[in-house]
Amino acid sequence: MGSIDSGIRDVRAGRLASDAYSDVFSDLHPPLTRHEAFVESDRCYFCYDAPCMNACPTGIDIPLFIREINGDNPTGSAKTILSENILGGMCARVCPTETLCEQACVREVAEGKPVKIGLLQRYATDHLMANGQHPFKRAELTGKSIAVVGAGPAGLSAAHRLAMHGHDVTIFEARPKAGGLNEYGIAAYKSVDDFAQKELDFILEIGGITIQNDKALGRDISLDALKAGFDAVYLGMGLPGVNELGLEGEDAAGCIDAVDYISVLRQSDDLSQLAVGRDVVVIGGGMTAIDVAVQTKLLGAENVIIAYRRGPENMNASAYEQELALKNGVIIRHWLQPRVLTRNEHGEVCGITLDYTVMADGRLVTSGESITLASDQVFKAIGQTPAEAILAEAGIALSRGRISVDDEGRTSIPGIWAGGDCIAGGEDLTVAAVQDGKIAAESIHRTLTQQPDKVSGFVEAVMADSSEGASATTQHPNHPSQIAG
Ligand SMILES: Cc1cc2nc3c(=O)[nH]c(=O)nc-3n(C[C@H](O)[C@H](O)[C@H](O)COP(=O)(O)OP(=O)(O)OC[C@H]3O[C@@H](n4cnc5c(N)ncnc54)[C@H](O)[C@@H]3O)c2cc1C
Ligand code: SF4
Repeated sequence: MGSIDSGIRDVRAGRLASDAYSDVFSDLHPPLTRHEAFVESDRCYFCYDAPCMNACPTGIDIPLFIREINGDNPTGSAKTILSENILGGMCARVCPTETLCEQACVREVAEGKPVKIGLLQRYATDHLMANGQHPFKRAELTGKSIAVVGAGPAGLSAAHRLAMHGHDVTIFEARPKAGGLNEYGIAAYKSVDDFAQKELDFILEIGGITIQNDKALGRDISLDALKAGFDAVYLGMGLPGVNELGLEGEDAAGCIDAVDYISVLRQSDDLSQLAVGRDVVVIGGGMTAIDVAVQTKLLGAENVIIAYRRGPENMNASAYEQELALKNGVIIRHWLQPRVLTRNEHGEVCGITLDYTVMADGRLVTSGESITLASDQVFKAIGQTPAEAILAEAGIALSRGRISVDDEGRTSIPGIWAGGDCIAGGEDLTVAAVQDGKIAAESIHRTLTQQPDKVSGFVEAVMADSSEGASATTQHPNHPSQIAG
């Protein structure tokens, strides 16, 4: 048993019976059966100017794809989804629909029970991936080549759209596997059965995309070399670093970067070998904090406490995610910020002292009281950081360390675009990264084929339309009708 007084830590693997792991890490939202999909699709009003569609960052025509499911055409439905969001399968699993499309659904507003858009999207995309061929073809080859840095959602989305337009794409990925946080970060119970790699294979079926793994920008390749060797460059490198707590001893054993731990968990093919503490404290208030807390609890930790320095309404994790943590037995303690890590005679972390916080004159201050918790593992989940040094060295304009881009994803350097978590002002969601990749790919395509700037033209057209009372949602810039191939 671990104890802060004795300094003995209780961190071990195999806290559950060996056959229990697959049950506790099973699919968070099991897929709908065909019958359930019909019943659920029947609940949709197929709204005109549908609010759910406006709330989807990738602009999927939600009423149309639900109608197609209702008409027993799941393949057509999947094509509708994938034409806007080629990672529609993963997004169906990981999107916080409760704050996006389902929050906007008129049935949520009227009855507090939205149409299950995420599960319907999964029904359609799973059907196509299991039964169908890749739904898109490449346009005539252009002879242009584009370098993409990072094989996460942003990079893959950009690469697929560029390949569809007939360009050749080479992705340079720092890690041994492609997929970005879909492969290394998303909670295991959201993406079961190696779905990230299955979706990657599906995306690559378009052809024209080569991935070079273990090739990092700044380590193995330079931006100058990419600029010289390719017609355009797209940066989708995410946020490779993490924020530090700023406490003495945080590099000691037992004080762990949550994203690193999740990545080990996601790559493990035997969770009974993964060591977890008996008492766990997680510092943070976002999705990563919730994910590491829930997953350590599922691995058999006895006491898991999330400590967050402000109130529940300030947490980046949605109310749904917070509830998920509570349902799994995680305790969330608000208004606490870490002050001191307690270490045992071996220098390992065995406890943490946190100060209570209050708001005073609009500022967060400590109240003078504190609490000390026994902790075999302290997880840092207070945000990730960009590859600022590499980007600054390349001379790209940054805003608070992230890449500054315009509404087409163009950086300050001609010929270089960027998107996903590495850009300033983004939402740090999978679906937002997919949209960034798509928009930038369209912009790169227009630039390389010397077509007029459609995105700006589109915005002006919508504004003109709106002033005449017309719908702004009827002509999305990347509507299937505009997709070549
Ligand atoms: C623990 C965790 C859980 C999350 N859960 C959810 C969720 O449930 N739902 C949701 O919508 N969002 C979630 N997110 C956010 C979501 O995963 C990200 O917003 C999304 O992955 C961003 O995509 P991206 O392509 O910009 O970056 P990433 O997915 O981070 O991909 C970037 C890729 O670039 C590579 N790379 C980095 N540096 C270099 C370099 N120098 N050279 C070459 N390659 C490089 C990386 O290895 C990586 O493969 C979560 C994030 C975390 C950390
Ligand atoms: S808002 Fe709800 S009911 Fe209306 S189209 Fe969207 S999913 Fe259907």
